[in-house]
Amino acid sequence: MIDTAELVRRNAEFAAGGAFVGLSLLSTGNLRVIGCVDPRVDPSHVLGLAAGDAVVMRNVGGRVTPTALRSWAMLAKVGEARSHGRPQPGGQLVVLHHTDCGIRDLAAYPELLTDFFEIPVGDLDAKAVMDPYASVTIDVALMKQAMPPGVLVSGLVYDVDTGLVEVVVP
Ligand SMILES: [Zn+2]
Repeated sequence: MIDTAELVRRNAEFAAGGAFVGLSLLSTGNLRVIGCVDPRVDPSHVLGLAAGDAVVMRNVGGRVTPTALRSWAMLAKVGEARSHGRPQPGGQLVVLHHTDCGIRDLAAYPELLTDFFEIPVGDLDAKAVMDPYASVTIDVALMKQAMPPGVLVSGLVYDVDTGLVEVVVP
């Protein structure tokens, strides 16, 4: 079991390693990732991200929901504040979905999904919760609408059986 004492021990190792020194709140290359909370698919692990490399947001399925979009809008303001009021241009946003996602199990609970997506139940099919290759394409389109021009939005699907990502939307 990983208890609090073990977490503190691991943190002491992290602190001793010094990887935290001098990091900026603004990520390297303005990289942003939205992915799933599944413990197998932490973007830092599967994409090899180090501390400070990316702003990572995680929710059930890594879905671009109204709540996620509101959080990205807030983060854009944080970025402006930390760069003296100048909007941070460009950069990249990766939507990372994965195979065997637990959101598929929620298809049996449509009321939870309609709350999550803030949509009527009749629109649920358009969210493609059973198919990560379809859902990542749908969510990339939503992010492209929401992000300022100049932000490169791409969609990846991680395969939990092979450990590899496939670029679905370059
Ligand atoms: Zn998932």
